[in-house]
Amino acid sequence: MDYHLHHQKDKLTEIEQQLKKSEAAERRRLQVEKAARESEAEAIRKIRGQDSSRKKQEEKMKKRLVELAQEKAVTAQMLASSTIRWVMGPSGTVVTFPKDMGLPSIFDSKPCSYPPPREKCAGPSCTNPYRYRDSKSKIPLCSLQCYKAMEQEAS
Ligand SMILES: [Zn+2]
Repeated sequence: MDYHLHHQKDKLTEIEQQLKKSEAAERRRLQVEKAARESEAEAIRKIRGQDSSRKKQEEKMKKRLVELAQEKAVTAQMLASSTIRWVMGPSGTVVTFPKDMGLPSIFDSKPCSYPPPREKCAGPSCTNPYRYRDSKSKIPLCSLQCYKAMEQEAS
């Protein structure tokens, strides 16, 4: 009997200890969960912070790009209004003078245009301007006749 009671007391103590153990384990589990939640929240805060600072940087860059484009446009405008521009075109060279400079009188009312002098046909006693070049000799010619005449002269 005595032994039995003793045994029961031991049993109770054992159960108590197990309860305590499991309570402690539960508390630890909750602490670990809480810590995990907190570190997750911290990570999210960090990412959001980085996002917002990245956004700020992007906005800064965009603003700077717009500023640069504006500066470029202003510079181009200034250059266009203060320089003489030579544009080589198929119909000749066009010279553009800035408005505030004033045109030299010879350029009044018409664009300056002077096509380069056209080379004359190399045919003997031919005064025509050339139309094509002989692909081999690069001699300027106006017609097949002049080409043949040149050939005859050469041989
Ligand atoms: Zn000719």
